[in-house]
Amino acid sequence: MSLKTIVEVKDLTVNFYTYAGVVEALDGVNVSLREGEILGLVGETGSGKSVTSLSVMMLVPPPGRIEGGSIYLETSKDENDVLLMDDSTLRSMRGKDISMIFQEPRAYLNPVYTVEDQIGEVMLVHRRPEFLKNAVASLEKKEKGGTIEANNYRRMLRSPRSLGTRLLQRFGSKKNLKAEVRKEVVKVLKSVEIPDPERVAGMYPHELSGGMAQRVLIAMALACNPKVLIADEPTTNLDVTVQAQILNLVRLLKKNYNSSILYITHDLGVVAQLCDRVAVMYAGNVVETGDVFEIFSGPLHPYMRALLDSIPRPGKGFRSIPGIVPSLIDPISGCRFRDRCSYAMEICQKVKPPFVELKKGHFAACYLYGGSQ
Ligand code: SF4
Repeated sequence: MSLKTIVEVKDLTVNFYTYAGVVEALDGVNVSLREGEILGLVGETGSGKSVTSLSVMMLVPPPGRIEGGSIYLETSKDENDVLLMDDSTLRSMRGKDISMIFQEPRAYLNPVYTVEDQIGEVMLVHRRPEFLKNAVASLEKKEKGGTIEANNYRRMLRSPRSLGTRLLQRFGSKKNLKAEVRKEVVKVLKSVEIPDPERVAGMYPHELSGGMAQRVLIAMALACNPKVLIADEPTTNLDVTVQAQILNLVRLLKKNYNSSILYITHDLGVVAQLCDRVAVMYAGNVVETGDVFEIFSGPLHPYMRALLDSIPRPGKGFRSIPGIVPSLIDPISGCRFRDRCSYAMEICQKVKPPFVELKKGHFAACYLYGGSQ
């Protein structure tokens, strides 16, 4: 059964305009994420993994610029072309349709607000009418048939845009709304298996361990049940036992929420354990993509083969990939891996190899398997 495509990146080109020259960070990247799958995006530092994910969120920082291609995202609105969305559509898409978690969770948590305030804010931005409806329902239950206070909530529901803090204070109903939000915050903290979620909700980021801070960030990302979660090396800097817990949690999210997850990592062990499919990046290009089992058991692209060979194994020594990643300022012509590839041919110097399907669902960009020779 073929799964629905939730994100589709086609021919994406991103440049960074620096004083040293134009860095051609992404050179026609193609990658897709399907419903309910975990796609591993692997490659060395500087291969373009994070720039690809930031492009999907339209968060490429200056001096970066998206120069070409398209990004399709299945959203709750009619607009699906991320590159054509206006600022307000982008703001509502981030958090509601797609969320992201990062490798330094504390850097993304505000040190002066509690966990409850920070997760609650995300919920209030995207789910305010839903909370007000709940608040009306509980008030009506308590107050038999509705009072002035419940009527005020109803009025706010009719025009959710006017639901500012001022209005809530004026009607003296802020605490009811806060109680509704707190219930949801505790629920989402429970879903990421945080022990004693009521207590953690009242904590500040400096009171959390590294693993706990990452769980809070994941909870914040899940606060609005987004269809897509981008995880950018979320286990880097965590010790191995906490890493294993976070990986289990990501698996659980896929199972319980049917989330589609783009998991960025340079750790092939994590990909083998966690992912359904994998896309391999090298110097701004996706060079191979396919089912994780198939690629690990029969890699086609010489770069992926070399990556697998470079994994240290007891008694087998260690084989590194010769050479270094090429500069992306005025990069070499043809295949960007050719200076490090022991199979390089004349054609590899001239024209970039096309990205073609070699077996069902298994794509690679390499002249060893044909192309325009
Ligand atoms: Fe090597 Fe040529 Fe294939 Fe590039 S296209 S990986 S240089 S054989």
